[in-house]
Parts: sequence; structure tokens; C-alpha cells
Amino acid sequence: MVRRVTILGSTGSIGRSTLEALDWLGGREAFAVEALTGASNVALLAEQARRCGARLAVTADPARLPELRAALSGSGVETAAGPQAVIEAAARPAEWVMAAIVGAAGLAPTLEAARRGAVVALANKECLVCAGPLFLAAVAEGAATLIPVDSEHSAIFQVLDARAAPERIILTASGGPFRDWTLERMAAVTPARAVQHPNWSMGAKISIDSATMFNKALEMIEARWLFRAEPDQIEVIVHPQSIIHSMVGYADGAVLAQLGPPDMRGAIAYALSWPGRAPTPMERLDFAALSRLDFHAPDPERFPALRLARAALERGGGAGCVLNAAKETALEAFMADRIGFLDMARVVEAALERLDGAPAPAALDDVFALDAETRAMAAELCAERAPVAA
Ligand code: NDP
Ligand code: MG
Repeated sequence: MVRRVTILGSTGSIGRSTLEALDWLGGREAFAVEALTGASNVALLAEQARRCGARLAVTADPARLPELRAALSGSGVETAAGPQAVIEAAARPAEWVMAAIVGAAGLAPTLEAARRGAVVALANKECLVCAGPLFLAAVAEGAATLIPVDSEHSAIFQVLDARAAPERIILTASGGPFRDWTLERMAAVTPARAVQHPNWSMGAKISIDSATMFNKALEMIEARWLFRAEPDQIEVIVHPQSIIHSMVGYADGAVLAQLGPPDMRGAIAYALSWPGRAPTPMERLDFAALSRLDFHAPDPERFPALRLARAALERGGGAGCVLNAAKETALEAFMADRIGFLDMARVVEAALERLDGAPAPAALDDVFALDAETRAMAAELCAERAPVAA
């Protein structure tokens, strides 16, 4: 049986890996691609659509529609553009949807796929971090199936025991490139240095989020909603080799872990073959060559992001949205050399304090409003931290 699939964000890192995973699992004989969406990389979008025989290709940027049309002329692939067209692509009847648009732009299309009851493979973090209850309500409303793609959450999903409630959700973290650096060295880190991740190959922003451990902070909030875990059930342990992708502890003291090479295609192929396990050419672990796996507690002084995530979880309401928007603003300021590496957490902490009590967003418009309010405030906080020009 051919399964219809849609990839939201096909031109990104996760989107490209999803197309590879489709080839692994049978290609055109097993899957029919309903829609692919991208934004700026229209040449790649067109090439992908031709190669996999997609019915529809959508760019989020209306200015690029003529370029997309020209690149796909004679191919039979339908084209469309703009944010509304991306939502409409998500509404088309594909049974399986990869949600891999980065940022808040992923919210509305992913909600749409959930509301119509698709199997949603969720890579986008904002859906849960900024709008957890809202997103889960859409999943329930549509009787959709949610399969996490973030490697940690995929691991937890894979070892969850339906017959026993988890006692502990243990997220592993590589610790990023500055795992063993002193605070003085970290204070002087440049954006170019922060994008170099030791284990995973990812986009620039998520690599810097890994270096500050804000990526793990977001993942703590994702775990809270995905697994309905209480804040004190969620733990983070640094595991430099990134072989154990995460673990779940049960009431009898047993801990189950999922292991694999650090390659996102593993979690994506799992989301595609769930509830089964289809064969893949993923690299096989060689335990004798690995010889050891290390663990240590994260240092709260050098990585305040984890403490801030816990504070956001305990505050509840709109705190996840505030943490995310303040972090994004601080990250952009850091990437533009306007604030230092350690300033990013200071900005987020101040924003969380100033917006304490922000209510949980009840609709998407509330998410966008709180996001905008936080960004404006965080921009001021960044300006206060910026070095005064000579
Ligand atoms: P990329 O930046 O590589 O790709 C993002 C995708 O979103 C691209 O297709 C991009 O199009 C598209 N896009 C960008 N802006 C818009 C917009 N305004 N409207 C619609 N589409 C847009 O990100 P990743 O693939 O790395 O990550 C995707 C999501 O998955 C993120 O939320 C990330 O946090 C999460 N994730 C990623 C992991 C990884 O290993 N990369 C691991 C776990 C989670 P274009 O490129 O054409 O502009
Ligand atoms: Mg992850």
C-alpha cells in the first residue's frame, strides 16, 4: 500500500533527511509525496519536487513564486506561495506529515495537520514549547497521532511502557562544544566558535542552542507536554558520546534506554515505520570500538539554561513562550556580535522575571502576541548589555 506523505520544511536539515529516509524505506513504491514546502531555497524545493514526484510544492515566500513556477514548468507539479498556502498544504490529505518548519512559522501548519487527524512526525520545537496545551488539544480534537522526531523524545517514545507510568524522564545532553570550558573562556566565545558541534551536524541556531544548553532547556519543556511529565520528573544528564539518546526510569528502579549513532535519520525512519521497525542502512553500533560511555551532572553555573527551563516549567502559563522568544532574540543579538555568549542566559532570565504571570496562550494569536511582546522587551535587555560603541 502506498502511503501519502507531506514534508513541511523539506529544504531544511530535517526535511532533507526525511527525503533520504523515504528512499531508504522504499521510495516511490512505498510513498507518494503529496506536498513539499520550503521558504527561501526554491531551487532545492523544485529539484526535490521533481525527484520525488510531489503533487504540490509551496514556498512560504510569495516573492519567490515566479522562480518556483519557472523551475517546475512542464513537471506537472502544482505550485503555490505564502504562509496561507503552507497551511493549505498541511491540510491536504496526506496520512503522514513531517513538521520540520523552523520557528513560530511552523505552528499554524502543524496545528492544521493535527486537527485533521494526520500522523504528525514532530521536529518543530515551538509547537510544544510555546503552545503545549493548545497543540495537544488540536491533536486530541483531530485524534491525530503524534510521533516525536527530536532524538531525545524519539528515544523516550521508543522505550515508554504503555503499562507503567514513568517515574523519571532522563534527557541526555552532549554538553556541546564548551562542556569542559571555564566560565572565563566561555565569556569570550564568538559565534563562529559556537556553531561547531562535536557530535551532531545541525543548523547554526540549533548548534548555538546546544552550546548554551538552551536546546536542552527547550527539550525539557517539550518532554513536559509530550509525556505529561511533572517538572521534578524531568532530569538532564551530560553524556558526551551522544550514543544513549535518552532514558525512562520506572517505579521498580529499572531504567530503559534507547541507543544509536547520532544521526537524525534514525529517529525520522522510526517515525515513518512506527508502529513497526523497518530495516534501514543506519550505521550499526560497535560496542567494542566505543568501549565506554560517560555521564556527568550538568554544571548549573556554566549552563544556567537548565535552571531557567525548570523555572519556566514551575511558573507555567506563558513562561515557555517567553523563554523561547527571549532566547531567540538573545541568540540573534549574539550572532550579530551585539552581546556576549553568557549574556544570552542573563537576557532570558530577566525576561522571565519581567513577564512573570503571563497567562498560557489560549489561541495562536495569543502565542504570537506574547512572542512579540517578549521579543520587544528582550531586544531592550540586549541593548542594555551591548558594549557602548567607541
Ligand atoms: P532548517 O533551518 O535547516 O530548516 C527549516 C525549514 O523551514 C526549511 O525548509 C526552511 O525553508 C523552512 N522555513 C524557514 N522559514 C520559514 C517560514 N517563515 N515559513 C515556512 N517555512 C520556513 O532547520 P532544521 O531542519 O534543522 O530544523 C527544523 C525544526 O526541527 C526546528 O524547529 C528544529 O529546532 C527542529 N529540530 C532539528 C534537529 C536537527 O538535527 N536539525 C533536531 C531536533 C529538532 P528554506 O530553507 O527554503 O528557507
Ligand atoms: Mg534533540
